[in-house]
Amino acid sequence: WTSETIAVVTGANRGIGFEIAHQLASHGLTVILTSRETGVGEEAAMVLQKGGLNVVFHQLDIVVPSSIEAFAEWIKENYGGIDILVNNAGVNFNASSDNSVEFAEKVISTNYFGTKNMIKAMIPLMRPSDSGARIVNVSSRLGRLNGRRNRIGNIELRKQLENDVSLSEELIDQTMHAFLEQVKDGSWTNGGWPQVFTDYSLSKLAVNTYTRLMARILSDRPEGEKIYMNCYCPGWVKTAMTGWAGHTSPEEGADTAVWLALLPDQIVSGKFFAERREINF
Ligand code: NDP
Repeated sequence: WTSETIAVVTGANRGIGFEIAHQLASHGLTVILTSRETGVGEEAAMVLQKGGLNVVFHQLDIVVPSSIEAFAEWIKENYGGIDILVNNAGVNFNASSDNSVEFAEKVISTNYFGTKNMIKAMIPLMRPSDSGARIVNVSSRLGRLNGRRNRIGNIELRKQLENDVSLSEELIDQTMHAFLEQVKDGSWTNGGWPQVFTDYSLSKLAVNTYTRLMARILSDRPEGEKIYMNCYCPGWVKTAMTGWAGHTSPEEGADTAVWLALLPDQIVSGKFFAERREINF
């Protein structure tokens, strides 16, 4: 890897995202550290720059379409394109074990729709290479389709989301909208949605299923223009999101993202990982 390799990390001003930026830059890449707030983003980038790393800051709020557009334009003008995209930005308002459905819209629109919009905006900018461009989505085991305890109760819907023939972007979007409608009219508690961190779990379920779907669509690209896309769970990590509870450090939480982003001749795509191992969706 050289400084010619351009990696973009979203929500990189703190937590796991900051560590992903740190570790990627330590491998010699140029990292575009993005943050929705300019002040904290510049500060975070400066910490890494002072360590001698190739890190450049740019503002990016993944729920604001004009911010994504301006970012894409800036990338095009300054770098021509990118090689690696790590979609790390995310929110979770379930500080305790309660569901915070009043924040449901924010959670779904950031974690799923924001991530999806970033992927769509960056794909045209991903540079052709022999080893393939890479997209890594930071997800969660809470979003498992067939998790034993926290899954969607509707078996038919689960089967549709699981089956590659019936899986579509429309189906994922419809599922999210159906949940949000039920949040609005108060009927969501009887909707058979995941019991724990409902809005957050669903948003990550959407990220996971979209990863499977998009990886399959991207696999049709010709040799030399391949884009590989995977998602992973960082574990329960001591960050602001968990109130600094958790089992692992941000450094450890970042590890699988960096490993997936830099796998030599990556042929794995559309899979779900944790601790550098494939796990079931
Ligand atoms: P943090 O809350 O520390 O970091 C989240 C980051 O996302 C912050 O930089 C935040 O910016 C940014 N962000 C939020 N909304 C937006 C937005 N609209 N546009 C751009 N950036 C945004 O939490 P973590 O580091 O723990 O979380 C990182 C990722 O890891 C998330 O996707 C999370 O869901 C996932 N994850 C975390 C786990 C954990 O145990 N910590 C477990 C499983 C998954 P700001 O500082 O401005 O709020």
